[in-house]
Amino acid sequence: MSNETEATPVLKNFFDRSIEEQQDFLQQTWCNECMEMDLGMKNPQEFEAGDRAWIEGECVKCGTKIITELVYEDDEV
Ligand SMILES: [Zn+2]
Repeated sequence: MSNETEATPVLKNFFDRSIEEQQDFLQQTWCNECMEMDLGMKNPQEFEAGDRAWIEGECVKCGTKIITELVYEDDEV
């Protein structure tokens, strides 16, 4: 028996994004191992589950898995 109540992450195509967006996401990172920001990300994969979306990749410096949550700023007036 499987539990179907949780949204299953769906793999999206990160490379469908514009080059500018790809570069922003690949540069604007935070690594918990290095404790440094903007070291960069490699091997990016974009996921979506319900109303959440995020990009997983590896820290360019140490290779640890890092995650960038995608935040949609719809409320700006
Ligand atoms: Zn790192």
